[in-house]
Amino acid sequence: MVGSISVDLTVTASPLPRPGETVVGDRFTTVLGGKGANQAVAAARAGAATTMVGAVGRDPFAGLALDALRHDGVDVSWVSEVEGATGVAHIRVDSRTGENDIVFVPEANGALAPARVEEALRAAAPTSPVVLLQLETPLEVVLATARTCADLGLRLALDPAPASALPEEVWAGVWLACPNETEAEVITGTRVSDVRSAERAARWFLDRGVHQVVLTRGGRGTVVVGPSGTTDIPAFGVTPIDTTAAGDAFAGALGAAVAAGLAWPVALRRAAAAGALATTKHGASPSIPTAAEVDSYLKG
Ligand code: ADP
Repeated sequence: MVGSISVDLTVTASPLPRPGETVVGDRFTTVLGGKGANQAVAAARAGAATTMVGAVGRDPFAGLALDALRHDGVDVSWVSEVEGATGVAHIRVDSRTGENDIVFVPEANGALAPARVEEALRAAAPTSPVVLLQLETPLEVVLATARTCADLGLRLALDPAPASALPEEVWAGVWLACPNETEAEVITGTRVSDVRSAERAARWFLDRGVHQVVLTRGGRGTVVVGPSGTTDIPAFGVTPIDTTAAGDAFAGALGAAVAAGLAWPVALRRAAAAGALATTKHGASPSIPTAAEVDSYLKG
């Protein structure tokens, strides 16, 4: 896992304050966040031996983030400690409407050194056939990860979030891309509204050397486009209460299933179940299911 580590500071109030206003809120939580850390937790809960490659600062939040990763069995020996603050996401949730807004400050994530990432990937390669990556770390880190994975023959799964334009070289090193509809549109310019348009957007990635495209569509399921054609996989029927981290739960579970050598349709089914279950609980990392929870859900 190469990616961001942050601490989510969430306040809830209703209504949320307007600029210049102060309101008294009703709840405050401090939990591990960042797409990288969430996906590492998701992969570990799905049963994969997971190594986190990222950076924290030298502040009290660093300990909180590392303890939370360790608690889920994630190996943090390749997490760098850099000067300054750990990344934070300041999240405000309207307790009545559920709407939120987020300010993510990368801090230490911006100081993750590409050379260190390459070193970590080379060290972990013999036991880590699959590498997960997102876009909350600097472009140089994304490039170094893609190059090193291509060099070592590792399967790189890129969740291109938050979406941004990337050099062609990155896509050539990506084995699996798993954008959601918005990310697919920002990157490919194709608006995704049904299976046909999802397939068109997926072609954009395939044309650039990506082997499999798994386009996630929330409650509308997943469109998978790759060597065996196009498959539209319906979402599991759940009653969502908070969709935060559904994509992270999905990506982590998918990476873990591929690393375990599960058949592709089985891997996709487990990922879809993990994504669906994540929507049935509040919060980001706290909502990510374990392998046992996915098993018992799939057994019905
Ligand atoms: P992201 O969080 O990156 O936007 P999605 O919302 O597309 O990602 O969710 C990822 C996957 O999680 C979906 O492809 C689907 O399998 C599952 N999922 C997400 N939302 C729901 C939902 N409301 N009902 C059932 N499954 C869902």
